[in-house]
Amino acid sequence: MTLVPRSPIPVLRELPDHAQLVLVDGADVLLHNEQIYWPAAFLKQQLDPGSMAVSIEAACDAAVYALPCPADSLVGMRFSRCPARQLLQSSLPGVFDQVGKALQLTHWLISHRYCGFCGQPLLAHPAERALQCPQCQHRVFPRISPCVIVLVRRDRHILLARHAGRGSATFSCLAGFMEVGETPEQTICREVKEETAIEVNNIRYVRSQSWPFPSQLMLGFHADHAGGEIRVDGDEILEARWFEADSLPAALPPPFSVAGQLIALFLQSLKV
Ligand SMILES: [Zn+2]
Repeated sequence: MTLVPRSPIPVLRELPDHAQLVLVDGADVLLHNEQIYWPAAFLKQQLDPGSMAVSIEAACDAAVYALPCPADSLVGMRFSRCPARQLLQSSLPGVFDQVGKALQLTHWLISHRYCGFCGQPLLAHPAERALQCPQCQHRVFPRISPCVIVLVRRDRHILLARHAGRGSATFSCLAGFMEVGETPEQTICREVKEETAIEVNNIRYVRSQSWPFPSQLMLGFHADHAGGEIRVDGDEILEARWFEADSLPAALPPPFSVAGQLIALFLQSLKV
């Protein structure tokens, strides 16, 4: 008889055979026959049955779980490795959602092993998707970090910047983490001013996107130029420029990203 998991954070042996798992190794997903799902019945025979998985849906007894899984634990098994960023671009229904959640939840699970109050190892909560301290009962839920991303407009021009680090050839929107106590509008004014010395007004919310590197909620806005000339620090921002709508740079954010969508919506607005 198959045991039904009581917790949204079961160990592998507690999963029903019909459950499916998404295996995550860092920022990569390990694929089974080029698919993101592995059958629980198979993995229960192959891996440590005490490995902790986490439900991708918040409800108990869900059908899909994420499992933190270093590739070297798949000894003798056929698999392939795919960067999650690549999978997020998939047009297959549900893949962005499921891979994004699997990445965030596995990162949360392996980075919260001990209680922040008393140092005891955390255990799975029996009924909620949370970890709990057996000593002081402190609970830790998956955490989301809100960020703003903004496309600043000046007539037919938009402000784009090259950021230091990954993808530094790409010109993208300005973005930043919200600080404690800020509203998104305040973060936008602060970030744009800090990064480019530009002042903005007329801030309009456009759309949002979960971004699992490791757990951002991107809040996307349009805003208008209110004053100032571009000045960058050359450290976090390598270069920032106003681009006319008809002469945008070749390296832009991908269309599936909220940055790409903010730019596409600006271009559409010019055609109306
Ligand atoms: Zn504790």
